[in-house]
Amino acid sequence: MKVNTENSSNKDNTPEMMHKKNKPFDSGRVTSIARKINFSYACQMFSSYLGLDLLIVLALIVIFVMGMDYQMTGAFSTYFQRGIMYEDTLWNAVYVVKDTEEKLVYQVPVGVWLVLFCNGGIVVLIAEAIDILSLAMKGTRKVRKKLRPLNEIAAKAQELSEIAFDETKYHNLEDAISNLEADAMENGIHMHDKELHGIETALNGLLERIRASYKQQTQFVSDASHELRTPIAVIQGYVNMLDRWGKKDTAILEESIEAIKNEASHMQKLVEQLLFLARGDSNRQNLDKKVYDLNHIMREVYEESLMIDEKHIYSFQELGSVSVYGDCDMLKQSARILIDNAAKYTEQGQEIQISAGIWKNGLPFYAIQDNGIGMSQEDLEHVFDRFYRADAVRNSKTGGTGLGLSIAKWIVEKHQGYYEIVSREGLGTRFCVVFPKVSTQKKEDEKI
Ligand code: ADP
Repeated sequence: MKVNTENSSNKDNTPEMMHKKNKPFDSGRVTSIARKINFSYACQMFSSYLGLDLLIVLALIVIFVMGMDYQMTGAFSTYFQRGIMYEDTLWNAVYVVKDTEEKLVYQVPVGVWLVLFCNGGIVVLIAEAIDILSLAMKGTRKVRKKLRPLNEIAAKAQELSEIAFDETKYHNLEDAISNLEADAMENGIHMHDKELHGIETALNGLLERIRASYKQQTQFVSDASHELRTPIAVIQGYVNMLDRWGKKDTAILEESIEAIKNEASHMQKLVEQLLFLARGDSNRQNLDKKVYDLNHIMREVYEESLMIDEKHIYSFQELGSVSVYGDCDMLKQSARILIDNAAKYTEQGQEIQISAGIWKNGLPFYAIQDNGIGMSQEDLEHVFDRFYRADAVRNSKTGGTGLGLSIAKWIVEKHQGYYEIVSREGLGTRFCVVFPKVSTQKKEDEKI
């Protein structure tokens, strides 16, 4: 493993780094912020007191003036001239009111009240000043206390920024990733380093997912080649037979042509299905979604089935009118796969029921029900696996590929739908496909 030694240790010891490491956290900055906050709060309090005091004085003057007018003349007049006169001391002050011609209307001695008012005012102002001063003195401490969490965060951030950055570890990780063998991915990366544990786990998770998908792909390719080998071998057998005896024997000729035709069409179907799934896996299968009447779509599929297959009895039932948001061709294809299976695994002359409408939970659905061979619980768990065919049908001449339901599942998943399947061996099967409401489907699609 390549180890890079020239990086971290030297850098940490540079004068600049040392200075950074030793510098304590600057708590003075928080104190100065607290002081500023406190000062602005004290100013605010001062202006509030001042405003309130002025308002009270003004109100007292108005009450006094109006009250005196009413008491002395029976009415309040704005034409009167008013003033306070005193000699030597406030104690002799007199409130004098004259009319517009300077004639005395009334006068009242107000010395005692004036002295009381002035002294009371001074007391109030002193109290207010003490309050503001005590706030200014204690406030900074209080604000600092409130700002403590911020202080701690700042200290923590400084601490973190001072942690030495050990580049060697990251170079080791780099080496571990570049030395990883593609065919031994399951071993993962093991650095045994606590600090890198999170990255290590995430990388190993990613490797595990890549490995699982790679395994699935190789399994698919191997199954596909295996499935294609059988019809090719059969065709080859018949061609050899034709070569040896078919030129003269018309019975062998006819049998071989029939068999080769069957195998070729089976191969064609298989290849088409494989291409569909490959396009789906690589997100190259385009869907053209619109809002459709689900009953209308299913009625069309039902009418097609009536024309194609005369060996079974088809019925169609509408269970409520309902719309779906989807790709019409794809929806039809998924239904055709289920109907095709129902026909394949049901005796001739038996009924196949198609229905569409609103499901028990209020969602749009369509269902295909047959009274054919049915499936065991174990088969039910695997029916959507690629190339899976139940033992009961594997050797029969139904001509299946084991890919139909994988395609149907892909289509339904692309419409955010799900399956509900009920099946009993010897009794029959019902495949029900449930879709979300149109609005929900549209929303889901916008997310993608
Ligand atoms: P196939 O081409 O073999 O029908 P599918 O993927 O469509 O492949 O179906 C997988 C298997 O599920 C079938 O081989 C069959 O065993 C079983 N299956 C599907 N539909 C039915 C049904 N309606 N009745 C009984 N078995 C069914």
